[in-house]
Amino acid sequence: MKTKIKKYRNNFIHNIIKEDLKKNKYLLLHTRFPPEPNGYLHIGHAKSICLNFELANLYNGYCNLRFDDTNPLKENIKYINSIKNDIKWLGYKWNKKIYYTSEYFEQLYKYAKELIKKDLAYVDQLTKEQIREYRGTLVTSGKNSPYRNRNIEENLKLFKEMKKGYFNEGEACLRAKIDMSSPYIIMRDPVLYRIICTKHHQTKDQWCIYPMYDFAHCISDSIEGITHSFCTLEFQDNKRLYNWILENTSVLNRPKQYEFARLNLKYSILSKRKIKTLIEKKIVNSWDDPRIQTISGLRRKGYTASSIRKFCEKIGVTKQNNLIEFSMLEYCIRNELNEKAIRTMAVLEPIKLYLYNIDDKYEEIFTVPNHPKKPELGTHEIIFTNTIYIEKEDFKEEYEKDYKRLKLGEEIRLRYSYIIKAEKIEKDKNGNITQIICFCDLNTLGKKSINKKKPAVIHWISIKNSFSSEFRLYEKLFNTHNPEQEKNFLSFLNPNSMIIKNGFIEKKISEKIQKKINKMKTKNINLFFQFERVGYFCIDLIDSKKNKLIFNRTVSLRDTWNKKKEKNN
Ligand code: ATP
Ligand code: MG
Repeated sequence: MKTKIKKYRNNFIHNIIKEDLKKNKYLLLHTRFPPEPNGYLHIGHAKSICLNFELANLYNGYCNLRFDDTNPLKENIKYINSIKNDIKWLGYKWNKKIYYTSEYFEQLYKYAKELIKKDLAYVDQLTKEQIREYRGTLVTSGKNSPYRNRNIEENLKLFKEMKKGYFNEGEACLRAKIDMSSPYIIMRDPVLYRIICTKHHQTKDQWCIYPMYDFAHCISDSIEGITHSFCTLEFQDNKRLYNWILENTSVLNRPKQYEFARLNLKYSILSKRKIKTLIEKKIVNSWDDPRIQTISGLRRKGYTASSIRKFCEKIGVTKQNNLIEFSMLEYCIRNELNEKAIRTMAVLEPIKLYLYNIDDKYEEIFTVPNHPKKPELGTHEIIFTNTIYIEKEDFKEEYEKDYKRLKLGEEIRLRYSYIIKAEKIEKDKNGNITQIICFCDLNTLGKKSINKKKPAVIHWISIKNSFSSEFRLYEKLFNTHNPEQEKNFLSFLNPNSMIIKNGFIEKKISEKIQKKINKMKTKNINLFFQFERVGYFCIDLIDSKKNKLIFNRTVSLRDTWNKKKEKNN
């Protein structure tokens, strides 16, 4: 573990910064995280957030949060709020205020005019399709637009007219004049400005021309005094344009762009566009559906901010694209919950068990630890009576050799309680078991039974001490390991990605939750449980109500997913 952390701190980005600091000891590292507010953040963004904010912290620098809000067609305030909330929740503080690219629209416009005046930009009136066609391909050169040789005055006049709204969307755009035969397609006269006649969430109706990402990004970085601009490998070619714009405008700062490999996670979709499709097609319920790896989905599923930060630290930062095991993410939360989750019992698929030699009025209270290794986490009481629920799958009517649970004629220990022996079953008209009738050996509390070795242990809840609850069990959403790569990713859905069980939790626990649930919902603070033998769970803070508690399984007790996969192969 220690060597991994060391490795993380010794990644190539640290080396770059260390080199830069050697050359300039007054350098103050300034990074930024620049989300486009067109969706919620996902675990891939968390990688970038951790990188940018952690570096700033480590080198006593700053990290800006800047909304890259240059496309009002796709962006809105709801996304801005969720992004702010998720970054805060992850435990990071941005430098001073929140920045918006839209704050720089006036400056960006001036820099665009500067390029026109240098004959380095022109107003084009080809259609979108024609621009694509003229651009050429990786193996063929592009061709010049017939509008490329307009003179500077005409270009300035037309650009002003674009700004004033004299053109409709798609009728004109501003392009850089670089080289239509460049081997880098990005340099073949890239579009710098387009017309969008939609109200913007920040600037309202002030603008109808909007800068493209490549033009706005480098200039925004420069205006904010960013020193190191980190982005994912797909932007490697864009760096040429990033530098070209900075070199050809009178900007004051020249930030440098560096690329790292994006996070790809097995069985996950990490593209906002595709996540949106999943929501629109009602495959998942919302951006915070626990089956998708958005920050809000993971939080709702029971992931903590520290487990996500730990994950980002463990995967490190490299220049090689790879696909990270889902079990790595699960490992991080399982490890943490193992330390802090309160142990208690819940029965997810109940079947009734009656102890015939115990009186109906008999009640015994056991005080049990909240954590087997941490007495400081306290204890809670459970009630033992003659009618209890056990898990349906913990009982077998037919004899099975290696089945280490309750069988007819065999003994089992009830967790924290007595050894019982199944003697009879009762069934309804359809042959379903309605009740298992057992003998309870009252001499076995904390002691072995006289006739047997140590029996297996099962969990249980007295009917008297039970509170009915819903349990949501999650599996992977996709049944292919790299859905992001599949053209038709929707045909690889796992139909059993969410299984709902209606069972019971201990009443004492439910009473505690009920007292706090409203506060927990408003403050977004969860409680974490290990339902013994079943898994780690948290409360679903969105759908739970005082009278209807819902629990999400965060992760199983062991890495069952990999085992299942091996079996199937
Ligand atoms: P998506 O493909 O999900 O729509 P995006 O890159 O369009 O992502 P932005 O809001 O522009 O989304 O991303 C903000 C920052 O997060 C960018 O710097 C981007 O490089 C980074 N980022 C996005 N996805 C990942 C990922 N999977 N791994 C690492 N960083 C990422
Ligand atoms: Mg982007």
